[in-house]
Amino acid sequence: MKTLTSSCPYCGVGCGVLPQVEAGRLIAISGDPQHPANFGKLCIKGSSLHETTGPELRLLQPKVDGKTSSWDEAMQSFSTRLKAIRDEHGPGSIAMYLSGQLLTEDYYVANKLMKGFLASSHVDTNSRLCMASAVAGHKRAFGADVVPGCYEDFELADLVVLVGSNAAWNHPVLFQRLLAAKHARPNMRLVVIDPRRTASCEAADLHLPIRPGTDAQLFNGLLLQLVERGALDLEFIQNHCEGFDSAFTAALQTPSDLHQLAFELDVNPSSLTRFVEWFTGTERTLTLFSQGVNQSSSGTDKVNAILNCHLATGRLGKPGSSAFSLTGQPNAMGGREVGGLANQLAAHMDFNRPEDIDRVARFWQAPAMSQSEGYKAIELFRAIDRGEIKALWIMATNPLVSMPDCEFVRRALSKCELLVVSESMAHTDTLELAHIQLPATTWGEKNGTVTNSERRISRQRPFLAPPGEARHDWQIICHLAQALGFDQAFSYQHPHEIFLEHARLSAFENDGRRAFDLSGLCHLDQTAYDALEPIQWPVNAAHPKGRARLFAEGDFFTPNRRARFIPVTPRAPQQTLDPEHPWRLNTGRIRDQWHTMTRTGRAARLLQHRPEPFIEIHPLDAQAQGLDNESLAQLRNPQGEYIGRVRLNEGQRPGELFVPMHWTRQFSAQACCDALIQPVCDPISGQPESKQGCVALQPL
Ligand code: SF4
Repeated sequence: MKTLTSSCPYCGVGCGVLPQVEAGRLIAISGDPQHPANFGKLCIKGSSLHETTGPELRLLQPKVDGKTSSWDEAMQSFSTRLKAIRDEHGPGSIAMYLSGQLLTEDYYVANKLMKGFLASSHVDTNSRLCMASAVAGHKRAFGADVVPGCYEDFELADLVVLVGSNAAWNHPVLFQRLLAAKHARPNMRLVVIDPRRTASCEAADLHLPIRPGTDAQLFNGLLLQLVERGALDLEFIQNHCEGFDSAFTAALQTPSDLHQLAFELDVNPSSLTRFVEWFTGTERTLTLFSQGVNQSSSGTDKVNAILNCHLATGRLGKPGSSAFSLTGQPNAMGGREVGGLANQLAAHMDFNRPEDIDRVARFWQAPAMSQSEGYKAIELFRAIDRGEIKALWIMATNPLVSMPDCEFVRRALSKCELLVVSESMAHTDTLELAHIQLPATTWGEKNGTVTNSERRISRQRPFLAPPGEARHDWQIICHLAQALGFDQAFSYQHPHEIFLEHARLSAFENDGRRAFDLSGLCHLDQTAYDALEPIQWPVNAAHPKGRARLFAEGDFFTPNRRARFIPVTPRAPQQTLDPEHPWRLNTGRIRDQWHTMTRTGRAARLLQHRPEPFIEIHPLDAQAQGLDNESLAQLRNPQGEYIGRVRLNEGQRPGELFVPMHWTRQFSAQACCDALIQPVCDPISGQPESKQGCVALQPL
């Protein structure tokens, strides 16, 4: 029996795991007591990993136009068809859609090929659906996409404010760390700001069930209160920030009177007052935010409204005192590091700085460097529908289920002249539409790195043989690149070589003004890469063992090294209720499932918690609609429909519904909740408004 260390493939907590392998199969899994994310703990998803792996249900061989083929035939067909489309229609006619499930090394070569060698920046990712608003908010405020704090802050804070996050279910091990700290220090307070009364509220000292979409009003109102109560850190503002006056002026549109603000937020005035008192009076305050903030048509502004309050109090990057974005996927952060979003370049460089484009092009010796940003996810699928993008390569994700208005996505994909899908599983909704199917390796087989929510890079190590003819994503990308004639630039033999190049690019002409810096890892040999311990970037001469916190002393990554306050004018959700669609629809994860259930759906014990699609509704609403617990109901709007089992929940606000995001058409034709979400986005981040749909409700 062999025991190795690796990291969990599910959420952004990034727990270390110890897989136990016997006779080529994963037979047990436990938490890695040495890993600083989890110190040996795992949630039920992580501890069930051995029940969800194995060669069953895997895609084992390439297929071209429905026929099993060899790798050489498949890649020959792929490269010939891609080249023909690019030659005839130009580089803007080809695109990639990636995933936060990919490893950093996979992401790196995908971006290098598309942005540097094929001159197309239409490379976006499913991370657009979860983290894009946090990225944009960080960049506006800090000049770089940097999370200022670390997990230790969860234990050191005296006040933890959880905004738009059910961490008890979605970041369970971190939530357990928080609860353990609260148990050890009973004076530590937890406030949950969420329209729903979720499992995270059970341990909370205060729950503010705000009206959906009003987060920016709340934090603008808090900024006014910080001024009124003399809680500003004037020295920090003066020495390290700019733009306070305009942010304050914009906030003045929000009622400064707490009773009036409570009315707008639809919360109890005394609860709101208590929150304001706690926030203004607690130096060690940590605000955690997640999809309830990001998945909004004004998500970036909401992020900045939160960051404004932390800048105003100088509570950033200090022990127990920070603002912290909880990442959804295991490598959403790593994807951002290598330019996995259509508006980014590698190593956190950007298309809006010509010197960055030039620097990346010189480093890659790129023959065809793209010069401007590409389409973000929703726009990318619209461009396919218009016929502008004709060839799409999807890796490790299932947009037919996860994108808003998934029926539109189906129509768009069916128009592709060439749709290639790299996938580990044999049956997904998206794979069925592919002209070319490519079997990819998955967790347990792959070798590389991921970065978790606290900027910590961890190794994922291989301990299972790839089944059938499955190959690593970076190998498949290099195979295509070589077939297109780019042999030398894509001749990697091992992910270690890719990681080194990635680290060297981060250090290339970096005068300390670029946040993402792995110069301290530029000289790892393969043995050191294989043995790499979890480490938080930046890793450089000043911080050879990585850096837990940034910005306590200012020194931001803007040109003048000052953080920016951003004026925020609150905006209502774009999906508006009407008499025919009067129910506000919230979507999200449940405790024991991951994304579209291709893996977690295989474990019987993970299906016990919530075995089928459901609709949560307040009991009084249910009664008025003639619905009981366990009855069936249908949700409908012009985009689509959804059928689920009714679950009565007093934690739902009246007039609002919650449905899980996991079930797919493979379960039933009406199981996909994203069919109901309009593809409206935040204008800055391009992140869809997945939390504020509008539907009709009908008993069945
Ligand atoms: Fe995996 Fe997240 Fe659970 Fe940790 S908390 S075991 S990373 S799913």
